[in-house]
Amino acid sequence: MKILVVGSGGREHALCWAISASPLCGTLWCAPGNAGIRDVASCVDIKADDVDGLVAFATSNAVDLVVVGPEQPLVLGLVDRLTAAGIKAFGPSQAAAALEGSKGFMKDICAKYGVPTAAYRRFTDAAAAKAYATEQGAPIVVKADGLAAGKGVVIAMTLEEAHAAIDDAMLHGRFGSAGAEVVVEEFMDGEEASFFALCDGTHALPLVGAQDHKRVFDNDQGPNTGGMGAYSPAPVLTPELQDRVMREIVEPTVKGMAAEGKPFTGVLFAGLMIVASPEGPKPRLIEFNARFGDPECQVLMRRLKSDIVPLLLATCDGQLDHVDVRWYDDPALCVVMAAQGYPGDYVKNTAIGGLEEAGKVDGVTVFHAGTKADGDRVLANGGRVLGVTAMGKTVAEAQALAYQAVDRIRWPEGFCRRDIGWRALEREKA
Ligand code: ATP
Repeated sequence: MKILVVGSGGREHALCWAISASPLCGTLWCAPGNAGIRDVASCVDIKADDVDGLVAFATSNAVDLVVVGPEQPLVLGLVDRLTAAGIKAFGPSQAAAALEGSKGFMKDICAKYGVPTAAYRRFTDAAAAKAYATEQGAPIVVKADGLAAGKGVVIAMTLEEAHAAIDDAMLHGRFGSAGAEVVVEEFMDGEEASFFALCDGTHALPLVGAQDHKRVFDNDQGPNTGGMGAYSPAPVLTPELQDRVMREIVEPTVKGMAAEGKPFTGVLFAGLMIVASPEGPKPRLIEFNARFGDPECQVLMRRLKSDIVPLLLATCDGQLDHVDVRWYDDPALCVVMAAQGYPGDYVKNTAIGGLEEAGKVDGVTVFHAGTKADGDRVLANGGRVLGVTAMGKTVAEAQALAYQAVDRIRWPEGFCRRDIGWRALEREKA
């Protein structure tokens, strides 16, 4: 088969790595890809949001399957355009990707189909939003409706902060049109985890859970990032809780989206808050994403034992009730190496050495994110640059192997957190 993966991050490197190992994969392209992806796929210089360019490439090369990594092309309708051109595409339609692209839409679906999530109201008027926040009291959460690269959410500990966040989004246009509407919602207290399921419009196939680390520095300090590391499984998500997530969150959403005439196809990423209740811990939904997480995808792909290609095809073909999926039990852990300054301004075009030596550490795969090739050299050209991913018999072992590999990488302009996996390690020790 001829397969095209869209994107250029660590998630896409992990997807290409898994797809290239399939006996079903003949030719593999990645657009635009990165320096690491070159080892497993041919990189094509088309940007992930260049919908016309991607459709033209897929058509002229008779691509059999397109796998869309990031959210932007999904929200721009890439899958609809490919489908119209007769090309199979893994990922939701533009209408279904609104589960991620519009927080208001997602909350309305949850309310209509009984998915447990924070109480909320949607607003297009700042004064009304502020009045509601005042009535509810702090702490309270203010979210820009549209995509804002993880920056559109404010956890307001005081009403002043909530009002300022509403003004920023709605009156000062801080997130452009993404903030013209806001969702004001209840603050949920608990432990966060992610769960993933493949959905074919009708059926949902559970994958596994993961936990990530959003803050830039050790001990969860500093500003939020796209994710500084992840591990899978997530010990907080017991088998009982995973069953509840499927029954109470994923399945009603798949049914609801179909009933709305917007069947969801692709991977549904449920961002969860595990909250305490008198009957024990229970899952509540924070958000949906319409694609794999990054860096969660890196640890999921390492743990996936089944061939990924039949799973992707079954998702596109409405056949998920005919496949099963197997996993390695061992935990996988990914340490993200970022360019100094990230998530603010960071230096670009610095040389990275020691990648080969790092990859030789037992059980380690180094996934590239923001890298580009310069002859034989690999240069950093993004904020998050590498995802050093290891598997071990325990989380402690996976962590030790990942940091052993990190220490072989020669990149003075880079940094990473040194405590990835701390929650899982605490549970492992207990
Ligand atoms: P990202 O791109 O990082 O996934 P996002 O912009 O899509 O973020 P959310 O995932 O909805 O936004 O929120 C970002 C973070 O804010 C969550 O991971 C969680 O830590 C926190 N958060 C969001 N909603 C709530 C809530 N109702 N109660 C408590 N914390 C919340």
